Amino acid sequence: MRFDLVTIFPEYFEPLNLSLMGKASDAGVVDIAIHHLRDVTTDRHRTVDDTPFGGGAGMVMRPDIWGRCLDNLLDDEIPTDTSDKDGTVGHLSDDGTEDQGQKPPQVDPSTQRRVLAIPSAAGVPLTQAIVEDLASASHIIVACGRYEGIDQRVADHYRQRDVEVLEFSIGDYVLNGGEVAALVLVEAVARLLDGFMGNPHSLEEESYEGGLLEYPVYTKPREWNSLPVPDVLLSGNHERIRQWRLMRAIERTVERRPDLLTKIDPASLGSAGRERLASLGYALGAPGQVSRLTLREAHIDEGDALADLAARTFPLACPESLPREAIDAFIAEELSPQAFASMLASPHSHRILVAQIDGQLVGYTLTLLGEPESVPAGIAKMRGVGTGGAYLSKCYVDAQWQGSGIAGALIERAAEDAASLGARFLVLGTNEANARAQKFYKRHGFRKVGRRTFDVGGVVNRDVVLVRNLTPDEE
Ligand code: SAM
Repeated sequence: MRFDLVTIFPEYFEPLNLSLMGKASDAGVVDIAIHHLRDVTTDRHRTVDDTPFGGGAGMVMRPDIWGRCLDNLLDDEIPTDTSDKDGTVGHLSDDGTEDQGQKPPQVDPSTQRRVLAIPSAAGVPLTQAIVEDLASASHIIVACGRYEGIDQRVADHYRQRDVEVLEFSIGDYVLNGGEVAALVLVEAVARLLDGFMGNPHSLEEESYEGGLLEYPVYTKPREWNSLPVPDVLLSGNHERIRQWRLMRAIERTVERRPDLLTKIDPASLGSAGRERLASLGYALGAPGQVSRLTLREAHIDEGDALADLAARTFPLACPESLPREAIDAFIAEELSPQAFASMLASPHSHRILVAQIDGQLVGYTLTLLGEPESVPAGIAKMRGVGTGGAYLSKCYVDAQWQGSGIAGALIERAAEDAASLGARFLVLGTNEANARAQKFYKRHGFRKVGRRTFDVGGVVNRDVVLVRNLTPDEE
């Protein structure tokens, strides 16, 4: 890839001779030329700027000067025109100065992707996605402004030619000139080019891949200043390490760059990742859609909203064979606004946690606590079910949000809540035909201890009974 960097301070680009970038230049992976804008001036003072039209402080860089320089660089690519031109000041030599007179390679512009990149505090933020896109260009010219910037007509004029124009910013702050931004752009693009990295695997799993920041990294010594390396990284268990890194990446991104979350493909996180994100207050819907999520105890006046939610969600977990009338009868009797109102009135024995998005309830858990009636008698007698248990009577999420991690986040919250109120285990029954629910509970630490029958509107259903220990000594 060819880079032409135009500046009134060519010395700024000496670092491009260092390290991997220097090696890439030597190896021909990149072809970097530095040009002094003042070389195309014709007056004695080599003037490149003038006062702003409309008044105001500072000076603005003249479009005619920039035009002369940029035309030289762009026209240089036309194979038929090999004449020397003022302003073509050559390539970066080993000592970082310009190699006078050396011409860039001649290429056919019709087959080339040419980009004029103009650093600007008012430009679009430079992102990894933009950088990845630029890596497929064949020629990037960076026009480094100074003073109050470059006359707007430069960007506007070249946009009308066969050149892509990118006015870009490297961050929400103002620099003195575009040179630092040019260095940023060149390095970010060049390291993606084939042959740049000694080890191309270094480019895998980097920050911004799939919308996540990179996880924290560690090396020897194992302990430094009383800070040990996390045990899991020494375990040799690749799957556990992968999961651990994913969770840390999610947490970092939520804490530092929640704006990136819209770029995540929900499928790439897996169930555990989506649940972690939900527990941190973000639910992923369709790709690109992220909603703020609140997990909290239900309010005393939410009986109606809960009854609505329960009526919407209860049928989702029923087997297809169950008649609609039986489902409706169950909803009318057990999940009515009055039933919820009375449960909400006894929050010590009826723990209702809700998930809320945009003011709407989208999921809930109902846990019964307190001896002796919290765990149904049939279950209480099962082997593996001790005393002091809580009964997870309901865990439901709206169809639209299934798979978003909300149910997993809710169940973890319900388990924490029950444990904090002294419960030693959590027990539940779920329809034996509902393999998805059973897999979900298993992932959340539940194990099967038996079966029971469950009456829905007069129709007897078969459930599996699952239990999860809530205290370490129960393990
Ligand atoms: N008056 C301009 C404004 O407020 O947007 C700032 C001009 S700045 C002093 C001079 C030059 O520094 C700009 O033309 C641009 O090339 C560069 N520059 C400043 N901040 C930048 C940033 N955040 N990203 C990229 N380039 C920047």
